[in-house]
Amino acid sequence: MITVRVPAKVNVQLGVGGLRPDGFHDLANVFFAVALGDEVTASAAGPGEGVTLTCSGPDAAVVPLDGSNLAARAARLLAARHGLAEPDVRLHIDKAIPVAGGMAGGSADGAAALVACDALWQLDTPTATLLELAAELGSDVPFALLGGVALGRGRGEILDPLPVTGTFHWVFAVADGGLSTPAVFRECDRLREEAGTGSGDTDVPTPDADAGLLAALADGDAVALAGALANDLQSAALSLRPSLAATLRAGTEAGALGALVSGSGPTCAFLAKDAEAAAAVAEALRASGTCRTAHATHGPVPGATVLP
Ligand code: ATP
Repeated sequence: MITVRVPAKVNVQLGVGGLRPDGFHDLANVFFAVALGDEVTASAAGPGEGVTLTCSGPDAAVVPLDGSNLAARAARLLAARHGLAEPDVRLHIDKAIPVAGGMAGGSADGAAALVACDALWQLDTPTATLLELAAELGSDVPFALLGGVALGRGRGEILDPLPVTGTFHWVFAVADGGLSTPAVFRECDRLREEAGTGSGDTDVPTPDADAGLLAALADGDAVALAGALANDLQSAALSLRPSLAATLRAGTEAGALGALVSGSGPTCAFLAKDAEAAAAVAEALRASGTCRTAHATHGPVPGATVLP
């Protein structure tokens, strides 16, 4: 039996280019891995059992337990890559990452299942191959393997690790219900059309990583990072879920250095001065009635890791 711990991500910068003819957007995506994470356990199953899935945690009821689950897809993809037939494996997801929350929880489970099955089946797959399989599963999966802080380009799957100093303290306000990532991108395009700027890849400049933000990460400067947080999907998430404005305000009024919607939302992320300030912001958010719950956590942390 192998258990893998895997982090959620927050995008400290999410620059979104125009809609490409292939339906994707070019991104300048600074991923940051946080200690709020899932655990995926892979254990051997009897011959003919196939891939079975169970899930525990507060959001377990809304996690799909069929072949569409990214953990199950990862197990099958890894087996196929090694020329193995339909694998027999039991996967259990202990889920702490909010579902459809803009924190790439499904992608995290996909990355964790790749690592867990690789260890269980003693395949010793090279990291480069795992990263390739991860990119096949989805744009956010490679980063969950890598962890730390990284710049994602293209659809987000071309990754370069970034230097960081020290630990940053975060709070995540979890909303009731999720937001569909494709719907948020469509709303972003619609708002750009409405504003008259156009939404195509010839209308919108190709986004680039912000030099000030990269310097703040490298210097371990939380105040500077808070000032540089930027998410081009935030106005679209707020347009689809106007109540998030009150969540962002509540965390800021409680002393957060900076706030933004995490990825496509609806989870909101707050940067705090230190662990004590993060605990206070989380407490204030829970009391504010503007979110379902709030978690104080920290990062960066490593990507999918086998637990001893
Ligand atoms: P992203 O920001 O990467 O688009 P997200 O964090 O907003 O994603 P996820 O929690 O990854 O959202 O879930 C998005 C959808 O993926 C869910 O609604 C669910 O149907 C599907 N899904 C597939 N596998 C999983 C999984 N292991 N855990 C949660 N959702 C999963």
